[in-house]
Amino acid sequence: MTTRIGITGAAGRMGRTLIEAIDLAGEELQLAAAIERPQSSLLGADAGELAGRGSNGIAVVGSLQEVIGDIDVLIDFTVPAATLANAQVCAAHQVAMVIGTTGFTAEEQGLIDSAAGKTAICKASNFSTGVNVCFKLLDMAARVLGDDVDIEVYEAHHRHKIDAPSGTALSMGQVVADALGRDLDKVAVYGRQGQTDARDRETIGFATVRAGDIVGDHTVTFAAEGERVEITHKASSRMSFARGAVRAAGWLHHQSAGLYDMQDVLGLK
Ligand code: NAD
Repeated sequence: MTTRIGITGAAGRMGRTLIEAIDLAGEELQLAAAIERPQSSLLGADAGELAGRGSNGIAVVGSLQEVIGDIDVLIDFTVPAATLANAQVCAAHQVAMVIGTTGFTAEEQGLIDSAAGKTAICKASNFSTGVNVCFKLLDMAARVLGDDVDIEVYEAHHRHKIDAPSGTALSMGQVVADALGRDLDKVAVYGRQGQTDARDRETIGFATVRAGDIVGDHTVTFAAEGERVEITHKASSRMSFARGAVRAAGWLHHQSAGLYDMQDVLGLK
């Protein structure tokens, strides 16, 4: 069965890569719509040309409502406010949604949860297969190394990223906290400066770097007396996220309403 996919944020870094990823995927996954901000100077542009793939006859439009009847799944890598508005539209039309946008507050996540009561939504802080394998490895490492180690999460991204720590770093911290029965909100320490006192073993530290064109580096360190384990993922191209999100779109088309993540898509649960 063909899955007709809409890409919103089509002119963004991820949007263009997603258009390319659909073009490289099999016949069953087809780009059916490309959406951008209503004020975008690129409305009317050919989506295939935007992605450097040559003309595909899909013109960029400025509203999801305009094309909602033409798509089975929307892939959204934009900004939280746009994603929340799109989730309402998708829920009302029972169009499935893949959400890659990061930086939601707990209250905003609640709005996504309620939209998932009406349509299938797959939301992940990171759609790369490698990172999702790392989540599994982190769970295992945390359970075995337990309370005998200090745990620190390091992440680095390009200078244009607008939220910190990255959604992936937070997910990594959450996996570790869950495995150890800790409440991440209580034990997370975001950056350190000045008189910090000795480290409390219960805490999970986060360090953020923003520089140049780094696509996405993450390392979780488990440090004990005399040894340390480091689990690292380095993304060298946005295609790793785009491929995963497009795979999620094909999978999601066949699911009933509910909230899913990339672990569901990959069968890692
Ligand atoms: P970007 O700024 O390059 O692209 C965002 C695009 O969204 C822009 O083209 C912007 O014009 C468009 N946009 C904004 N408001 C819109 C609206 N109302 N309707 C339609 N389009 C709108 O950003 P990016 O680097 O592509 O990242 C986008 C998001 O994806 C960020 O939140 C980022 O953290 C996240 N991200 C997630 C993953 C993952 O695997 N989950 C991977 C990479 C990036």
